[in-house]
Amino acid sequence: MLRVAVVGSGPSGCYTAQGLVQQDPSVRVDVLDRLPCPYGLVRYGVAPDHEKIKSLQNNLRAVLEHERVRFLGGVQIGGPGGLPAARLLELYHAVVYCVGAAADRRLGIPGEELPGSWSATEFVSWYSAHPDAVDDGFVRDVRSAVVIGVGNVAVDVTRMLARGAAELNPTDMPEPVLTALAGSRVGEIHMVGRRGPSQARFTTKELRELGALPDTDVVVDPRELALDPAHADLSALSAAQRRNVEVLRGWAAGPPTGAARRIRLRFFLRPVELLAVRGRVGAVRFERTVPDGDGGVRGTGRYEDVEAQLVLRSVGYRGVPLDGLPFDAATGTVPHREGRVLREGAVAPGEYVAGWIKRGPTGVIGTNRPCAKETVTSLLADAPALARRRVSGDAVAVLRAEGVEPVEWQGWLAIERAEARLGASLGRNAVKLPDWDSLRTAARTALPRTGS
Ligand code: NAP
Repeated sequence: MLRVAVVGSGPSGCYTAQGLVQQDPSVRVDVLDRLPCPYGLVRYGVAPDHEKIKSLQNNLRAVLEHERVRFLGGVQIGGPGGLPAARLLELYHAVVYCVGAAADRRLGIPGEELPGSWSATEFVSWYSAHPDAVDDGFVRDVRSAVVIGVGNVAVDVTRMLARGAAELNPTDMPEPVLTALAGSRVGEIHMVGRRGPSQARFTTKELRELGALPDTDVVVDPRELALDPAHADLSALSAAQRRNVEVLRGWAAGPPTGAARRIRLRFFLRPVELLAVRGRVGAVRFERTVPDGDGGVRGTGRYEDVEAQLVLRSVGYRGVPLDGLPFDAATGTVPHREGRVLREGAVAPGEYVAGWIKRGPTGVIGTNRPCAKETVTSLLADAPALARRRVSGDAVAVLRAEGVEPVEWQGWLAIERAEARLGASLGRNAVKLPDWDSLRTAARTALPRTGS
């Protein structure tokens, strides 16, 4: 039997585990996660109103319930108090790191740290009930919000700011989050790109959803569309870019209906400073940009201040170094060749990567399938050599001996039951447990182990 640890139970981790057990009957996989809950960004990143994408959890669940796969939650690899990467490699013939990109990119402009300025991921963590999330109230006393960036995360947070109680109630968000968002008075949401509409990173399906929000107008300034180099002739654009521009043109052509909320999609504005009002963010200063003829933009020295009591910086994720693993700070990824980790240019036997920590934070969930497949192919090609590595006894026994009590699958099922009970008590569907204590307590009510 080849024993493999997959670190991270998001899509890339689950697809890696799936590939391994499907392609080789002699492989057993432990999928480890820092959190007691599986599914990574599918649970803690995909917006709660995106039920169809959320239902991907059912596919990932089938992987984690495979007879040769074990889920071991609550196990931290690296970092203070965590199991060192080198120790993990003593327990398994191979380790595949699928740890994603856990940090946010920074803007690096004055005022970024003002109260009321958050990364989009902090906001997402809050409404997704991530146990590490901070509850700032976020939308309390906010009339106008600015979302910086025009990728799919920006679209997600913009949409969540505009959603009303009726649409939020069926989701799994905690009651205090639901109450805060449903009672929000945010009337203006500005989503702002530094380049042009044809260069925006959002996908058309996500963009269109903004136009379907109840009691919300989407406002686009035709003059900003006209600034785009591709404006006169869309033929040079990809089909996806063209579709985006066409949707935006539709909105630019229609007058607002006077709805309660407005989403203003802005372009060619580069954030230069967050301005304070009474110690909190009060506005964002943007510099007007123009195309530089090379796909980028240059500043014009003209500025525009946009009122905002809440600023969500949605400018992409960034991988973080994991103790004991090499890291390329420029790309925020682990250097690799076809998924094999490289140490100073040479393959490090037994260590692999897949997902965002391998290729950077791009692509949709499905992009992780081919990415994981490549890594699985490399690992299985190396299997004869890996099988000769000496490994210590069963990982769970070793972890317990070292004081780590993993949350096994039964523990996770107990969390699911507790969330269903909580939802029922509130007259709602399942509602997520939002903190470490309640997750751990629920996991401890697990049914007795059936043998692991
Ligand atoms: P992203 O797609 O990389 O978009 C980042 C945005 O931030 C871009 O508009 C970028 O503009 C802008 N930006 C970067 N640095 C900036 C700066 N200093 N000042 C102003 N703007 C700046 O990242 P993301 O939205 O975080 O999404 C990450 C990945 O997850 C993407 O692949 C996305 O498709 C995926 N995702 C998918 C879904 C879905 O399918 N529903 C939902 C969420 C996320 P430039 O282009 O000018 O750099």
